[in-house]
Amino acid sequence: MKKINNYINGKFSISSSKRFSPVYDPSTGEVQAEVVLSNKDDFDQMIENSENSFLEWSKVTPLNRSRVLSKYKTLLEDNKEMLAKLVSQEHGKTLEDAKGSVTRGIEVVEYACGIPHLLKGDFSQNVGSNIDSWSIRQPLGVCAGITPFNFPAMVPMWMFPLSIACGNSFVLKPSEKDPSCPLKLAELFTEAGLPPGVFNVINGDKEVVDYILSSKKISSVSFVGSTPVAKYIYEQSAKSGKKVQSLGGAKNHLIVMPDANLNQTVDGIMGAAYGSAGERCMAVSVAVAVGNIADNLVSKINERIQTLKVLPWTNSEAEMGPLISKEHLEKVKNYIESGVNDGASLVADGRNFKIQGYENGFFIGPTLFDNVKEDMKIYKEEIFGPVLSVVRAKSYEEAANLVNNHSFGNGASIYTQDGDVARHFTSNIKIGMVGVNVPIPVPMAFHSFGGWKNSLFGSHAMHGMEGVHFYTKLKTVTSRWPNSIRSGAEFKMPTN
Ligand code: NAD
Repeated sequence: MKKINNYINGKFSISSSKRFSPVYDPSTGEVQAEVVLSNKDDFDQMIENSENSFLEWSKVTPLNRSRVLSKYKTLLEDNKEMLAKLVSQEHGKTLEDAKGSVTRGIEVVEYACGIPHLLKGDFSQNVGSNIDSWSIRQPLGVCAGITPFNFPAMVPMWMFPLSIACGNSFVLKPSEKDPSCPLKLAELFTEAGLPPGVFNVINGDKEVVDYILSSKKISSVSFVGSTPVAKYIYEQSAKSGKKVQSLGGAKNHLIVMPDANLNQTVDGIMGAAYGSAGERCMAVSVAVAVGNIADNLVSKINERIQTLKVLPWTNSEAEMGPLISKEHLEKVKNYIESGVNDGASLVADGRNFKIQGYENGFFIGPTLFDNVKEDMKIYKEEIFGPVLSVVRAKSYEEAANLVNNHSFGNGASIYTQDGDVARHFTSNIKIGMVGVNVPIPVPMAFHSFGGWKNSLFGSHAMHGMEGVHFYTKLKTVTSRWPNSIRSGAEFKMPTN
């Protein structure tokens, strides 16, 4: 059985741990490799290496750091197909979708190439007589990232390129379910000229996460994953005095107004609800049909579901792949069961879906519920599968209240041709990332990604200027020179 190890100090390192976790091929259900679950010795070895690397790397000028990033970007582009294959092999998503996610990650590297500009501070001359003041942003030290299974390339790349560009060293603990792509990302960074140890990858589960959270040698933690774990990471990191940004789960609504262009809306919903088998934190899981559009909307989505191509990623026609694991498949099926028991109308049922030759794969068909109500479990909780709930609302106000009252606040969209309604929505909706006639409003690298409410704990979103600010400490200098110093001590605050 293939063993997947850690990447420390610019090379693969063999762990003394006897614990391993299976890495599946979700299309066949077979175990294709085992990833090491690191122990305390691995962590201690890695953290010492990361600390030493930080001391050297933080002295490299931003311009020279940018040059390494620029070479890295070229290497990533040259290897995009291979990286996407690694994602698809272990995650199961379609190859084109995996390529898109790698592209989104490369865009953060591209943004980070501008680090000399991004780190420029503010300067004020004569804040007092002959006194100048300016701000500097300095690196934190060793930063850590803990990432989920659903975007094994993109989510780590929201974090480490910018952190490293800011002069930090970075420790990544990727998901144990699909660790190969993150390791390849680290190898390519070394090839691009990043000094060994500036980017280390340590594999593992809660045990190694807890070493990260309690270590005094780690300055910051960036987390993306489910809400209960995000809360835990936030609380534990804060307890040990770390900077923390911790992104959790989601339940994204898409409001369909009666004047929406129905075909465009259904196109948007299909990709957003069923793309990547619904395993996206920005997936649309609730469509709120306002007024008389509901019947047509439900029947058109159902029509499209019948022709949606659910296939393994190796088939170029695939539009949707399997779920990540057998346990997750069972969990999603249980949610469908609970929707039925709670009285929602099951329009399309994906539970008995099978593909010949892939009977043991973790496939499920696209599922559609109508008449979902606010108090149902399938409405309140994140399912993270290809299950779309349609809720019927009488008015825009009722629809907007649903979104605002939900505990998650990652993304929400509205489909309408009415500018007034759209403006009210973007101004008043209590959500971090908002779309108008755009189903998945994911911000580009030069903006920042982050939700509200139970979808983000901490003060900073990912990448963009939020990322630069998260991965640096602000220092403000106030200075004057000896010839201009007035004599005599001053015991009062200046009044001019
Ligand atoms: P997860 O929370 O199970 O795991 C995320 C990471 O935390 C993994 O590296 C895992 O090893 C680690 N982990 C798991 N349990 C832990 C525990 N008890 N203590 C410490 N560490 C633990 O999430 P997942 O299943 O890998 O990913 C799916 C979730 O991620 C969904 O809820 C999805 O919405 C969320 N997600 C959110 C965003 C966002 O931007 N808000 C983006 C992608 C995914």
